[in-house]
Amino acid sequence: MSLARRKKRKADVKQRASKPNSMYSYCRAAGCPNPARAGTSDGLGRLYCRKHHDHYQRHGSPFKPSYKASELNPFRKVALKWLEENGEDAWVRSAVAAVEQLYQSAGPHVEAFRLRGLKPRQRAQAHWARLRTAKVDPVKVVSAWLAVEMALASDAQSDWRPEYKRVQAAKVVHRMASGSHRKWTQSRLDGTGTWTQELHVYPHSRGRVLRHIGEDLEKACALLTERCLDSCLSAPPRGR
Ligand SMILES: [Zn+2]
Repeated sequence: MSLARRKKRKADVKQRASKPNSMYSYCRAAGCPNPARAGTSDGLGRLYCRKHHDHYQRHGSPFKPSYKASELNPFRKVALKWLEENGEDAWVRSAVAAVEQLYQSAGPHVEAFRLRGLKPRQRAQAHWARLRTAKVDPVKVVSAWLAVEMALASDAQSDWRPEYKRVQAAKVVHRMASGSHRKWTQSRLDGTGTWTQELHVYPHSRGRVLRHIGEDLEKACALLTERCLDSCLSAPPRGR
């Protein structure tokens, strides 16, 4: 797109977003009395109000909160143990190899300070590269997917939309790579010695990047889940 067209498009979108459109009056979240964002001067979202839209961005569902670590950890333990015991299984090996492939094809490592301006797809790749650099065991990554599948299968109020599952797994995997950290020493201007400055940046765990990470992981684990989830679910409970 030419610069002029892009500018015009940006201006058009801005104008539309600031004009309430009465066709999209209500937020779709059950029982929410707020207008959808397109029905207000706050954006173009036609489905949800600001609050439910934000929730959806962060958790992959407009209403269901994310699983807490305390809810997922027991499943992660069972899944990891099951994966270790079945390490020679062809489906396990192919899922682990697929995650390794994600690491290897992710391109160069990108520091967390340099993620701004990258597209969500590129940020997802940077995430896989970060896991590679941090030497996170691919088996752990596979166990995160299985744990979310297990949590959903055991939840009486599951949100079965694929997006929720992807975002939940992506959030776990996102936490496995830490941020970027820098520390440097500068001399004081008045010559009275030095002081240390630190910078810690953690990539945001929200938005479309989580959808991409979740989709990648879903693909890597699809066959394993199909063939082995039942066996994994019937594995002896945690702590044994
Ligand atoms: Zn709402």
